[in-house]
Amino acid sequence: MPMTATCHCGSISITAPHLPAYINDCQCGVCHRYGGAWGYYTVDEVSIDRREGASTKKYIWGDRECEFHFCEQCGGVVFWWPTEKGLAKSREMGVNTRMVDPGLLLRVERRWTFVD
Ligand SMILES: [Zn+2]
Repeated sequence: MPMTATCHCGSISITAPHLPAYINDCQCGVCHRYGGAWGYYTVDEVSIDRREGASTKKYIWGDRECEFHFCEQCGGVVFWWPTEKGLAKSREMGVNTRMVDPGLLLRVERRWTFVD
């Protein structure tokens, strides 16, 4: 079943081809502050739609291999994916399942792990 994640104002939508294998309520320093609950995909699997004129801002730090994108309008953290540098190592990305209808996710396993 496809899964759509939409920020609060509706400017940014992400569609993934299936529900995530599990949801990780990541406990790393940035994710627990954002409240990110990630479903993992590869960058090739998902499509990101931005309403006309809408865009995301991004936050990059540390080893600069990963960037967090949040809606410029409502501030919701919608996804993270690798920077160009990070792509050399991994094509994995995270979709913030807090942007998904919770009813869709009731049967998806939850984990609370530290993934750096
Ligand atoms: Zn928004």
